[in-house]
Amino acid sequence: MKTEPTHFGSGWLSGVLSTALAAIGLGAVLCFHYPSLLTMPDVRALYPVAYVRALLHLVLVSAFLLGVLSVTLRRSKRLGMAGIVLTLVAALLGGSRVPLDGELRDGPFLGLDWFLLNLIGYCVLFVPLERLFARLPQQPVFRREWRTDLSYFFVSTLFVQVITLLTLRPAMLLFDWAANARLQAAVRELPFVVQFAAILLLTDLTQYWVHRAFHRVPWLWRFHRIHHSAQAMDWLAGSRLHLVDVAVTRGLSYVPIYVLGFGEAPLYAYVAFVSVQATFIHANLRFELAGLRGWLATPQFHHWHHGADAEAVDVNFAVHLPLLDWLFGTYHLPRGRWPAAYGLAGGRRVAGGWFHQLVEPLRTPRQS
Ligand SMILES: [Zn+2]
Ligand SMILES: [Zn+2]
Repeated sequence: MKTEPTHFGSGWLSGVLSTALAAIGLGAVLCFHYPSLLTMPDVRALYPVAYVRALLHLVLVSAFLLGVLSVTLRRSKRLGMAGIVLTLVAALLGGSRVPLDGELRDGPFLGLDWFLLNLIGYCVLFVPLERLFARLPQQPVFRREWRTDLSYFFVSTLFVQVITLLTLRPAMLLFDWAANARLQAAVRELPFVVQFAAILLLTDLTQYWVHRAFHRVPWLWRFHRIHHSAQAMDWLAGSRLHLVDVAVTRGLSYVPIYVLGFGEAPLYAYVAFVSVQATFIHANLRFELAGLRGWLATPQFHHWHHGADAEAVDVNFAVHLPLLDWLFGTYHLPRGRWPAAYGLAGGRRVAGGWFHQLVEPLRTPRQS
């Protein structure tokens, strides 16, 4: 595939779109078949089923036609055939008329619908942006190790229930003693904007020190270095986080939120904000956003955190507020300059693959 052309008219784009749409369509058909097992109870109630079916029909027809187009245009038929075969499998399982099977119940589930919604949302938002305003225009969408990072994205959204429990439960169990009902009621009385700003500041303050510890404590760095092993920065690269890193960082950042008992609306707004913000700062975007300098983390700010250059070591730990780095002496944002390379210092590498990277920190006790 590497030697095959990818320019417009070569059948590459139609093949990629066909395969992607067919895979999404097949995923959606599976969600209809096993809704209790494969969809999120919170999101389930919000689906306009009739529209989803109509859209699914459109997706499967498009996937098939694009597959045929790719097979016609391209010497290698693999991409186009993959799209056609996946579409046919989705059609055999019922296509857009697939019955909504089984009784809906709230229990253990896998967020296949959550994965598909996030994938579609982020792709629609970031892929065109990165094509139009790329910091490194020569970096393709399917850059090196994209499969590894997509696996992280897949696991973190598919196992959303387990990961949420893993991050929230320890705070609830260990810090229940610190919660005070009167204080929590007073916090919930505060205006939405104040609560949102307080959540932003408290989580980032906690996150800053936990993140710094992950860099400075050798046995913690073993887990966090996985995040820094990405040598290409784009919207997907930020997904590369070891499960221990996710559970510890998010778990501890949740403690002040839990103890102070913020309202649901500002909390959900924060979760939505952090999801997009954390993705945005990794993206392959050349925006320096000079007006935001020092106020809100930008791609340039976090790209320096990922720099392989000596000047980029242990700088810019904040996710939202660069002010914290400025206060604690780790701020680094030279005007008009970006890191020369990304990844671990000295170009060191971690072998690709989600599973390998999951066990690697446990296997190499003397790794720095
Ligand atoms: Zn880091
Ligand atoms: Zn990062």
